[in-house]
Amino acid sequence: MIKLSRRKFIRLLGATGTVSALGTLGVTLGGCSGKPGAGPRVVVVGGGFGGATCAKYLRRFNPSIQVTLVERNASFVTCPFSNTVLGGLQDMDSIQHSYDALRMQHGVKVLQDQVTAIDPAGNRVTLQGGGELEYDRLVVSPGIDFRWDSIEGLDESTSDTIPHAWKAGPQTITLRSQLETMADGGVVIIAPPDNPFRCPPGPYERASLIVNYLKTYKPRSKLLILDAKDKFSKQGLFMQAWEQLYPGMIEWVKGSDGGKIYRVDAANRTLHPEIGDPVTADVINFIPPQQAGAIVHAAGLVNADGWCPVDQRTFASTLQPNIHVIGDASIAGKMPKSGFAANSQAKVCAAAIVSELGGTAMPDPSYVNTCYSLVAPDYGISVAAVYRLQDGKIVKVEGSGGVSPMDVPAEYRRDEARYARGWYQSITQDAFG
Ligand SMILES: Cc1cc2nc3c(=O)[nH]c(=O)nc-3n(C[C@H](O)[C@H](O)[C@H](O)COP(=O)(O)OP(=O)(O)OC[C@H]3O[C@@H](n4cnc5c(N)ncnc54)[C@H](O)[C@@H]3O)c2cc1C
Repeated sequence: MIKLSRRKFIRLLGATGTVSALGTLGVTLGGCSGKPGAGPRVVVVGGGFGGATCAKYLRRFNPSIQVTLVERNASFVTCPFSNTVLGGLQDMDSIQHSYDALRMQHGVKVLQDQVTAIDPAGNRVTLQGGGELEYDRLVVSPGIDFRWDSIEGLDESTSDTIPHAWKAGPQTITLRSQLETMADGGVVIIAPPDNPFRCPPGPYERASLIVNYLKTYKPRSKLLILDAKDKFSKQGLFMQAWEQLYPGMIEWVKGSDGGKIYRVDAANRTLHPEIGDPVTADVINFIPPQQAGAIVHAAGLVNADGWCPVDQRTFASTLQPNIHVIGDASIAGKMPKSGFAANSQAKVCAAAIVSELGGTAMPDPSYVNTCYSLVAPDYGISVAAVYRLQDGKIVKVEGSGGVSPMDVPAEYRRDEARYARGWYQSITQDAFG
């Protein structure tokens, strides 16, 4: 058995994008063949990290399957690296991906439309543009939606004034332009939600890259994190970096010390915490509590908490037949809600569907995730893990991955920043290329 140091392990993940299920399953299933597009029909709802990957790998594992991907937008804007846009390091074009390769190279039929209803009994979905699609299997990867009713004063319209920017696109542009127009000496608030939510380290990477921008262009400004939680992902690493790179510019207030917000007054850019006085800021990035994307709710695919229970071996819904749910919307054991996790789950799900439709045994899956965060352009940190199935639940493989070490030389952080960029190139190529 070859032993890998953590550093080598994350470098490998950064360079190759994924070593997950595909390593095993691709070999087993790659030999499937058949007449292109004459076999069973699989409809995939949502062309993000989960849906795009699943559509592509269904076709790679068995080219006879007819795969239709329904996505409401013409192209996909990634949340990963959207924080670099907020920090003025990259532009929107650099995080935008088309579906041309899925259409032209992989034989996926891509429909730009919105699924408005799922009929599990009739095995069909309804499209906003008119008409229906019938399926033999349905894969749903709609990402997240927000629980607007969970905070007083918050609704969809308030995100024009206090953007969430937790779905990349117009919201990213709104928040960036607010930061650009803010005067030097201004106060920015980021208010992250309680768990579970998409991308656990995301708010803290965002704080870092916004302050990296402020430090250069508006150095008298401050950023306040009013957190609903008492601890957060990679906390020790982030806080050490903030002290080194941005002394005195970022203040984090934990939930039980007054970070938890119960009311939002968007018009006056004021947040009301459960403990202490209301806080007003020049720019507020309020990230609302979350649940599975809207489409799964009416279809009876969610539990009481608003997320989708699945068989964690195949991602088949435990509530409705012939439907699989992957990505952020699913309950995937110990895996975080991340793009890499969605990509890894998508391959396992594609393999499970191909096995099931072909009447073959599904190999044992493995799953992988790495979340890189940039604290500055040349300062990266990460958390990585490999997962396996144990008693029907996805669990971490003991000793796999881990978080970046504390107190390492600048060169180590520079390398991790480089792996982060390599990871982005390879995962977007894997999903959309
Ligand atoms: C700021 C930020 C930074 C992040 N950074 C990272 C990172 O560095 N690494 C990482 O791994 N993850 C990161 N993530 C998390 C990552 O973006 C998500 O976990 C990932 O996108 C989930 O994939 P998904 O397929 O479940 O959903 P998505 O990628 O959101 O895709 C869902 C798609 O479904 C479409 N859709 C929804 N409903 C319908 C419908 N009814 N009809 C048609 N289309 C529909 C949507 O338009 C969307 O395109 C970050 C997230 C944020 C917010």
